[in-house]
Amino acid sequence: METTVKRTKIKDLLKSEPGMEVLAKGWVRTKRGNKQVKFIALNDGSTINNIQIVADTSLFEEDLIRRITTGSSLAVRGELVASLGSGQAVEIQAKEIEIYGECDPMRYPLQKKDTSLEYLRSVAHMRLRTNTFGAILRVRNAMAFAIHKFFNEKGFVYLHTPLITESDAEGAGDMFQVTTLDLANVPVEHGKVDFSKDFFGKKTSLTVSGQLEGELGATAVGEIYTFGPTFRAENSNTPRHLAEFWMIEPEMAFYDIEDNMELAEEFVKYLVQYALDNCMDDLKFLNDKYDEGLIERLRSVIGISFERVTYTKAIEILEAAVASGVQFEYPVHWGTDFQSEHERYLVEKHFGKPVILIDFPKDIKAFYMKQNEDGKTVRGMDVLFPKIGEIIGGSEREASLEKLETRIDELGMSRKNLEWYIDTRRYGTVPHSGFGLGFERLLLFVTGMANIRDVIPFPRTPKNAEF
Ligand code: ATP
Ligand code: MN
Repeated sequence: METTVKRTKIKDLLKSEPGMEVLAKGWVRTKRGNKQVKFIALNDGSTINNIQIVADTSLFEEDLIRRITTGSSLAVRGELVASLGSGQAVEIQAKEIEIYGECDPMRYPLQKKDTSLEYLRSVAHMRLRTNTFGAILRVRNAMAFAIHKFFNEKGFVYLHTPLITESDAEGAGDMFQVTTLDLANVPVEHGKVDFSKDFFGKKTSLTVSGQLEGELGATAVGEIYTFGPTFRAENSNTPRHLAEFWMIEPEMAFYDIEDNMELAEEFVKYLVQYALDNCMDDLKFLNDKYDEGLIERLRSVIGISFERVTYTKAIEILEAAVASGVQFEYPVHWGTDFQSEHERYLVEKHFGKPVILIDFPKDIKAFYMKQNEDGKTVRGMDVLFPKIGEIIGGSEREASLEKLETRIDELGMSRKNLEWYIDTRRYGTVPHSGFGLGFERLLLFVTGMANIRDVIPFPRTPKNAEF
C-alpha cells in the first residue's frame, strides 16, 4: 500500500478524534455485514479492544472482500469517523485495504469448537493471539515493569545472579543438571561420574534460587533484587507449579523480619495498585470471562493490613477447625509443613484476608533462616493469598557465623561448597533479610486465572516442553 499516512496503533486510534486520514494494521477478529457493507473487527494486540472497519463493498473487488476472514492480517487506510454503532466512539471508513496474509477458514484452528485453555496450550501461534492471552501478556508486561519501577524508586540495585550454578540454594527443589558430557559414554572414576571432565570441571545445575548470591550483593551494596528465570525439577503437577518460572528476590542488609514483612506487603500492594491503574481494560475482560470476583478482590487486598500470625498459632487454628469438623486431605500438627488447602483455609475461611505466617519450626525450613531464642523455630515468613496459597517465601537470615555453621553441620550439608557464602558471616556480618516472590503466582492472583500454565507464554511442566 502506497501512502504517506503513518500507521497508528489501535489503542491510540480508539482514543483519537474523528476526522482524519489513518492507517491501521492488524488481524481480523470477525467479519459480518451484508452485500452492501462489511464490518470488520480488527485487532493489533495493543489493546483488548478492536477497531471497527466499515467497508463499502462497491469500493472493493469482490474477491478481496471474500479473502478477508477471521485470522487474516490487513492494512487498512481510511477516514476515522464517529461511530454510529453503540460499541466504540470511532471507526474507520475504509478507502484502501491490503491483505498481508490470508487465513484459511477451513483450517484455522480457532474455528474449532474446542477453544478451552487446555486445547489452546497445544496451538502456540493461535494461543497468544486470543483475547485471553493478549490480556495476560499485557498484564504480565505491566507487572514486570512495575517490579523494576518499585525497586528502582527505592534505590535497590538489580543484581544478575547466575542461572548455571554449583550450589543447591536450600534443597529448595530438585535441580536440572547442566552437562556437556556424552550421556551414552559418561566418564567414570572409582565407580562415580567423573565431573572433572565436564564443561565446568564440576557438577553444575540450573538455579533454583538466586538468594545465596543475592546475599553477597546485599552485603555489598545494601539492597538488591533479582528478577529472572528459576528452574525446579519437582514432579509436582499442580496448578501452582512450573518447572521453569520467574522469581523476584529482594535481599536487604540491615532489615529485620519486621522490615521484611513491611516491604513484602508494600510491594505486592504496589503491584496490584499498578495493575488496577494501568490494565483496567484487560482486567475487566478477565473479570467478565474467567473470574467475576477478580477486580473486587484486587481492590480489597490494597485496602487492608495483612494478618500476621505465628506458625504455632496457625496450627492451633487449623487443629480447632479439624476438631469442629473441617476435613483436610493432609493432617496438620505442630511440625508439619502446610499444604495449599491449609493455607487457603487460613486466608479464605478464617481471616478473610492475606496472611503472613512467621516463626516456623526450623526443621521444615532452610538452613540459612535466623534461629529464634526458643531453639525450635526460625524467623521465616510466608505470604499467603486467597485462591493461591503461598506467593512469597522469605526470612531474616542467620547472621551469626557460629549458628550458621552449626546448622549446616546438623543438616549434614557440605560446608566446603558453601564457604564462599559463609564468608559473608565471617567478614563484617550484618543482620539482613529477603524474600522470593513467584512471578507467575503473582500473575495468577492479578489475572484471576486458575492454572499457572496459563499465565506464562510457553509453560514448562513435567513431560511438557513444547515449542
Ligand atoms: P511451594 O511450597 O508452593 O512449592 P516453596 O516453599 O517451594 O513453594 P520457595 O522456595 O519459598 O517456595 O520459593 C519462593 C516463591 O517462588 C514461592 O513463594 C512461590 O511463589 C514461587 N515458587 C516456588 N516454586 C514454584 C514453582 N515450581 N512454580 C512457580 N512458582 C514457584
Ligand atoms: Mn516447592
